[in-house]
Amino acid sequence: MKCFFCQYKTEPSFKDLDNLEKFLSPRKKIVNREKSNLCAKHQRKLTKEIKYARYLAMLPYVSYQGLR
Ligand SMILES: [Zn+2]
Repeated sequence: MKCFFCQYKTEPSFKDLDNLEKFLSPRKKIVNREKSNLCAKHQRKLTKEIKYARYLAMLPYVSYQGLR
């Protein structure tokens, strides 16, 4: 299966929060490569963009929602 970003011919971007959130677990952890089905290139870029979005406070570092 092709990776999500290759399939839609798009790149992960910190501005594209809808797409970044698809690759966050309910606890806002970045999902690992086996679960995300991304190619190495896009997984690396995604991680970078999510970290940048967190730095800009556009995404939370952790969430405790759904734990209780
Ligand atoms: Zn890809």
